[in-house]
Amino acid sequence: STQVYTFGGGVKHDDPRAKDKVITGGKGANLAEMAGIGLPVPPGFTITTEQCVQYLAEGGDFSDALRADVAQALTHIEKTVGKSFGDAADPLLVSVRSGARVSMPGMMDTVLNLGLNDETVEGLAGTSGDDRFAWDSYRRFVQMYSDVVLGVEHHLFEEALEIAKEDNGYLNDVEMTADDWRKIVKEYKGIVDAELGRPFPQDVTEQLWGAIRAVFDSWDSDRAKVYRRLNDIPGDWGTAVNVQAMVFGNMGDTSATGVAFTRDPATGEKAYYGEWLVNAQGEDVVAGIRTPQYLTKAARERAGAKPLSMEEAMPAAYGELAAVFELLEKHYTDMQDIEFTVQQGKLWMLQTRSGKRTAKAALKMAVDMVEEGLIDEATAIKRVDPMALDQLLHPTLDPKAPRDILGKGLPASPGAASGAIVFDADTAEKRADMGDAVILVRVETSPEDIHGMHAAKGILTARGGMTSHAAVVARGMGRPCVSGASGLSIDMKARVMKIGKRELKEGDILTLDGASGDIMAGEVPTIEPELAGDFATLMVWADKHRRMKVRTNAETPADCKMARQFGAEGIGLCRTEHMFFDASRISAVRQMILAEDEAGRRTALEKLLPEQRADFAAIFEIMRGLPVTIRLLDPPLHEFLPHADEEFAELSDEIGIGVDTLKRRAGELHEFNPMLGHRGCRLGITFPEIYEMQARAIFEAACDVAKAHGEAIVPEIMIPLVATKKELEILKALVARVAVQVFEEKGSTLEYMVGTMIELPRAALMAGEIAEVGEFFSFGTNDLTQTTLGLSRDDAGKFLPVYVQQGIFARDPFVSLDVDGVGQLVSLAAERGRVTRPDIKLGICGEHGGDPASIAFCEKTGLDYVSASPFRVPIARLAAAQAAL
Ligand code: PEP
Ligand code: MG
Repeated sequence: STQVYTFGGGVKHDDPRAKDKVITGGKGANLAEMAGIGLPVPPGFTITTEQCVQYLAEGGDFSDALRADVAQALTHIEKTVGKSFGDAADPLLVSVRSGARVSMPGMMDTVLNLGLNDETVEGLAGTSGDDRFAWDSYRRFVQMYSDVVLGVEHHLFEEALEIAKEDNGYLNDVEMTADDWRKIVKEYKGIVDAELGRPFPQDVTEQLWGAIRAVFDSWDSDRAKVYRRLNDIPGDWGTAVNVQAMVFGNMGDTSATGVAFTRDPATGEKAYYGEWLVNAQGEDVVAGIRTPQYLTKAARERAGAKPLSMEEAMPAAYGELAAVFELLEKHYTDMQDIEFTVQQGKLWMLQTRSGKRTAKAALKMAVDMVEEGLIDEATAIKRVDPMALDQLLHPTLDPKAPRDILGKGLPASPGAASGAIVFDADTAEKRADMGDAVILVRVETSPEDIHGMHAAKGILTARGGMTSHAAVVARGMGRPCVSGASGLSIDMKARVMKIGKRELKEGDILTLDGASGDIMAGEVPTIEPELAGDFATLMVWADKHRRMKVRTNAETPADCKMARQFGAEGIGLCRTEHMFFDASRISAVRQMILAEDEAGRRTALEKLLPEQRADFAAIFEIMRGLPVTIRLLDPPLHEFLPHADEEFAELSDEIGIGVDTLKRRAGELHEFNPMLGHRGCRLGITFPEIYEMQARAIFEAACDVAKAHGEAIVPEIMIPLVATKKELEILKALVARVAVQVFEEKGSTLEYMVGTMIELPRAALMAGEIAEVGEFFSFGTNDLTQTTLGLSRDDAGKFLPVYVQQGIFARDPFVSLDVDGVGQLVSLAAERGRVTRPDIKLGICGEHGGDPASIAFCEKTGLDYVSASPFRVPIARLAAAQAAL
């Protein structure tokens, strides 16, 4: 069949679909692959993602053809294992798991031990020779199936178990006897009957189809939808279903289950990393119910832990596992995240996939693997998610700052975070929406907490290991996380947490260090990141492989310096208006704006000239040897106006004009639609003296710096919001006039360019003509998006999320360029500009210049450079390299 693929038991597939993640999902494809290279994989089969999509579209019915295919595939398992599904004497049990194209940890459903009923449980007891094991497995199955498939709330079962343990005077589950479990199963079935008005299904085929249905349905569960939205996963992929013969890690002390990574997913260190539990089933490790133990002796010793590592306790199975690690890394040429089970000494592989990793680990592994000869530079470049670099570029805790350490947990996801304590996901989201930094503190996290984890700056849990839900999800999101802080207890009613001897309330400030596991009271200061080492190596490779230059959007000396450290190759956009807001000069700016006439404006501009000149000189100094694009004043003037009465009064005192006059002038400047109003080059056309002052400041500063250092600056003067060739003509002539004056005064000349932003649809359409005047184009895709979509930059935030949710836009078009629409204008303008002026310099300086998907588009369009905010410069360098490969 092309809808159900078997694996294990020596099956060989000719159909490449069997190993295609798109068809059989990540888990299914890798199971087929592992079985194919001879690894011990329990036999099973995968129902394709296509069946899920069809099932969901057709309203939840299974075709007869699918039923027949599944029945046949089940026979494959039965033959391989030598047991029959539903056989009262020697039953086959299976697991049913989801598996989408990419892993969505914990988002969808799993059912284990399926195939147990009142008869087969006796068979299992007989063949295993272990009554307790059989009944324990049955009660686990009833609970899991009832929760996942039948929708009975699982706390009902947990309460029943708690009561039973109390009645017997037990503290732990391990004290429960076979008979105790038998009674619990009876009680559990009673709960199902009472809740649903029908008995727990005894027919194993009905059980199987129920589970398949639940897995398909879980694709559309709320939590899966939220996860997809946060991770940009399309809703139409669907999930595959994997049905596989059960192997048991809970068959006594020679059995075990575990999760492992072939390298450390937090640091990237080349050392096996993992957790395991003796006599347990897989879910026990991940759910954080029992605290798992270390896999290797070295890790155990480093942590000073007592319980034996797997390497020590089960050397033979461990040796086999280590050999599998090596084989899988070579086969996939990537770090693998593996689930395994040991059943009475025999190792079984249940899953492998490329492991999620922190940005730091991704970098280290990519660089190490090139050095090991496992991958080449191009692959290394493609391995690192540019956006994840963000995690590395941000500050970490100052090691010298005093820390009021409350306790310690596991360093589950690195980075530092401070914020107010909240105890539930909804509160986290609410407070984050109000602009608060919050730390989500939970006993353990579940997929229902995902929105709160996203809203929080950091996550702290009392339970769970390094592979717990909280740890995996936090690493994926780049949130610092400390998990398994055993000294932590939470009182949800009083909304306080106790840690050690201290008590903290909701709202108190907490700091987490995800790299050490430290939990601290109050806020701890941070320091700048380390840009050497693996980061520098990868960046060198990226620079070697990229074609486009990367510049930065910056206007303060501090930002320019930082951007240069991050590798910026010039300034793509210096927004001069930002320099006008400075407290020391705002009154001169206001005086200029509110002046009644040109003479009044000139007086104020006289005061601003030396300030602007100093600004530009500082930037030219820092950016020596690199191109600097300076944009002349752009925003509507009234943005600089005073608002409060005191501000008017102060200004009136300073410049000697009455408050009433000032207020009248301010009123005259009011605009109904300022974004489409008196801004951009329209200011230069109507108040040329403003642009004259700015051009003069630029040329004077450039001449001074060139003279002082003997190194020339080539200023690129940029005119904003141009719609017509004529505007640019007038303003280019103005700039040229000032240049001649300044060069005469200084007795020196320099090269410079005058270009324009393309940020209006008309400018894009008329680019051929505009290029007759403009020597370069810089695509202002913020305004170009606003004006092409007729979508206000400042107001769209209120409704855009709904648009994204409903799939009208795949992503916010102000974040990721609308390639289909706005992109057409960019390509067309680039093309027309080049026809007129073949060597025209083309760049982008809208926010999209720092977005990897938009950068890929810029590469395709053949732009010369992208310009991004300083922190995005490394992201852009890597993304530009990926785009070029
Ligand atoms: C733009 O419009 O894309 C741009 C870079 O200019 P600003 O964001 O300053 O309007
Ligand atoms: Mg703009």
